[in-house]
Amino acid sequence: MFGSMMDRPLLVSSLLEHAERQFGATEIVSRETGGALFRYTYRAAASRARRLAKALTRLGVAHGGRVATLAWNNHRHLEAYFAVSGSGAVLHTCNPRLHPEQLAYILNHAEDEVLMFDATFLPLVEAGAGHCPALRHFVLLGGPEDMPKESRVPGLICYEDLLAASDDDFAWPEFDERTASTLCYTSGTTGNPKGVLYSHRSTVLHSFALSVPDTLSLSAHDCVLPVVPMFHVNAWGIPYAAAMNGCKLVLPGPKLDGASLFQLMEDERVTCSAGVPTIWLSLAQYMEQHGLVPTTMKRTVVGGSAMPQAQIHTWTQRFGVEVRHAWGMTETSPLGTQGCLLPKHGAATIDEQCAQRAKQGRAVYGVEMRVVDADGNERPRDGKSAGELEVRGPWIAGAYFKGEAPALRNGWFPTGDIATIDADGYMQITDRVKDVIKSGGEWISSIDLENAAAGHPAVLMAAVIGARHPKWDERPVMFVVKKPGQDVDKAGIVAYLADKVAKWWLPDEVIFLDTLPLGATGKVQKVDLRREYANVLDCVA
Ligand code: ADP
Repeated sequence: MFGSMMDRPLLVSSLLEHAERQFGATEIVSRETGGALFRYTYRAAASRARRLAKALTRLGVAHGGRVATLAWNNHRHLEAYFAVSGSGAVLHTCNPRLHPEQLAYILNHAEDEVLMFDATFLPLVEAGAGHCPALRHFVLLGGPEDMPKESRVPGLICYEDLLAASDDDFAWPEFDERTASTLCYTSGTTGNPKGVLYSHRSTVLHSFALSVPDTLSLSAHDCVLPVVPMFHVNAWGIPYAAAMNGCKLVLPGPKLDGASLFQLMEDERVTCSAGVPTIWLSLAQYMEQHGLVPTTMKRTVVGGSAMPQAQIHTWTQRFGVEVRHAWGMTETSPLGTQGCLLPKHGAATIDEQCAQRAKQGRAVYGVEMRVVDADGNERPRDGKSAGELEVRGPWIAGAYFKGEAPALRNGWFPTGDIATIDADGYMQITDRVKDVIKSGGEWISSIDLENAAAGHPAVLMAAVIGARHPKWDERPVMFVVKKPGQDVDKAGIVAYLADKVAKWWLPDEVIFLDTLPLGATGKVQKVDLRREYANVLDCVA
């Protein structure tokens, strides 16, 4: 017997419609590509999104058609988020930092018909447009003043002209909630990028999960600033969840340096944020150098890679900002776990609490999680037994776009992460399968080593890879970027680590670099380090 409740579809357009009706006057602040701040409201954003939806329909974008964006976090990108998906087409957010060949590959693979882009990316589009035959329309996200005098892009359309020629007399269509809404490609560090195709249903359910108290805890009293780009797993779903909850939304545009972010947070009275650890590292450095402390920021979600415990300590103690460590991936929309404390941690010392927060956290409702051995058998939840992490749930990818590389194993998504889960459900990543260091048949966790090294007062960043070793197969090699004005040598690092990790984990080599190679989403690219340094221990007897 079925229940007798209404079967109303969960659609992305309903989020903006809700914001327009219930929080119409709430502000959205957006940093333009040129640097100026633009302000408007959910009411105005909704009206412009309807105009855009109507204009796209006139351009011939049909239900299921793909519209790509190459854009920063700004208000026009936000309008595209709702207009494209809301009209039944599929929004494909592209990472502009991808290699141009990879960019052309994903535009072709997605069969995008329209490309909407910020002026910053005009040269990239000019270079690549000819390689993407399916692209029929190019829209520059700006006003007439942003249009180039001359351009090699065929029939370049000005976004504001497109909207001016349209009107907002457009009703969001209703369709099956399982319809595709958004397409995001994995960064493709190994092989070609793979497309993850979210649905309206998965996006709305994910927004609920992001909003609850132990995740981002969003409400109409919040002002939320997603530093994580809108091209990186839909800014982790924040644009949708902000509309659901009527949060003031602050979009930082291209200015992500410490000074600009701090100023924006203070001026707009931001209460919560989200981004990868490297962003918080540079903001913390800026604030420390200038003796600043944020006055309105209460919490931030950090994910994408592990935030070391020492950094969590700095944010909590020095800046008074709660760090909520989260784990996820493109294939998980991305929210999988969150690292809030349990009541039993209330009596713990600050150090113990930070250690707990340095774990990747507990599964949010909607996500099931387990670790398995090489034969697919579930491993004990004892906080010690490591294995590959598998997840399943209504916002986890069941397959890749166009059916490439079957994603599931016995109905579970294999994440490629090695993890443990403890009796309280706290999951801790020790490594990615491809990063794990196998020394004499035993695993060494590169993340644990990096975490430990990051606590050294002279260390700004640390990364560890397995380098080939004639006797042990692989041994850890550590790369360190020193804090400005600080000094430390190999012996100092090894001595510091000696009482923090097992003796046989200590790195065989410590290499000091000016910077670490960062990938398109701000994560350390170990693949680049391996390419250059995999043989660095070859001469060891
Ligand atoms: P890519 O890093 O390949 O661009 P994703 O953005 O989907 O793709 O990254 C997902 C991966 O990032 C996860 O599989 C995991 O290895 C890593 N990751 C995400 N969050 C965390 C975290 N909080 N701690 C450690 N690793 C994380």
